[in-house]
Amino acid sequence: MDGVFARRASRAFKIGCVGIGGEYPISIQSMTNTDTHDKVATYNQTRLLSEAGCDIVRIALPDEDSAKTISYIKEKGLTTPIVADIHFDYKIALAALDAGVDKIRINPGNIGSREKTEKVVRACLDKRVPIRIGVNSGSLERSILEKHGGVCAAALVESALSHLKILHELGFFDVAISVKASNVPMMIEANRLLARATDCPIHLGVTEAGARCRAITKSSIGIGTLLAEGIGDTVRVSLTDDPTEEIEVARGILSALELNKTRGMDIVSCPTCGRTRISLIGMLSDFENKARDEGLLDMDIKVALMGCAVNGPGEAREADIGIAGGVGEGLLFKKGEPIRKIKEECLVDELIREIKIMRDIKK
Ligand code: SF4
Repeated sequence: MDGVFARRASRAFKIGCVGIGGEYPISIQSMTNTDTHDKVATYNQTRLLSEAGCDIVRIALPDEDSAKTISYIKEKGLTTPIVADIHFDYKIALAALDAGVDKIRINPGNIGSREKTEKVVRACLDKRVPIRIGVNSGSLERSILEKHGGVCAAALVESALSHLKILHELGFFDVAISVKASNVPMMIEANRLLARATDCPIHLGVTEAGARCRAITKSSIGIGTLLAEGIGDTVRVSLTDDPTEEIEVARGILSALELNKTRGMDIVSCPTCGRTRISLIGMLSDFENKARDEGLLDMDIKVALMGCAVNGPGEAREADIGIAGGVGEGLLFKKGEPIRKIKEECLVDELIREIKIMRDIKK
């Protein structure tokens, strides 16, 4: 992958139509929060997540019956890979595999017996379905907690590697691993240790990160730090919110590090100050909404919305297109050149119109 961060070498395999590890782009995951038994609601949310840019959707399966929802999603023709999130019960894993799931998240050490684990592994091998081992700070085994004197990075990794050993002994190698904690330094340290211990693709996430601002900050620091070190093959941002919001944050993290497969629109805007004489804050959200509605956010361009003539012209010149605010008006720049002055009330619509022209020329 292009970019300034050398990526850790990892084993590559497919989850449905999406590759993970190796040279595959870093993918974005999220999880539905509908009642899985409500197959229509779960399908609708899966579709919305997919449309928002989610590469892989995880669905919690509390019982065997809930696996019917996976069959329903598959019958509806949605191609986004589906991961079944399963705890303890191997029969739910087998039901998910029968329903056509693309990956299962289960910790083999928690299934109960070697015989049950073997059944799941054999079915995964038959259907070429990978497994994610997912270790969270809140659900570590008691023996590991006692050995380490509580939750710590080494304990998370020891737990993950013990589950991995079981799969390797059974000849199963298409395994992704996550070691998540709500504590950001611990999550970073655990993933660094994990990256040194295995070549499995790593799924990054800060778990139970909380609500919006706090969660975005924690996820950006935790996930972003590791990605900048070349660690991480797929990411999930956890927000106590609508899961489609997680996609925008995850895309933002990848975009900030220039690790996203399609760069998307890079919007640069100043924070405003006492020199600002246009309503830049309102203009920015108006612009983002209109750009989203017009399907322009996937364009690989840099757009600058700047408040005044101090830093504005410089940033606007650096961008593919931008405006530098004046008093009740703005100066439009395109490819580094000033084009014309536009009245404040027309700035957003003119910017959108010009960007659509740029898109049409590229087609
Ligand atoms: Fe203030 Fe101008 Fe800088 Fe915006 S670009 S923060 S208005 S000085």
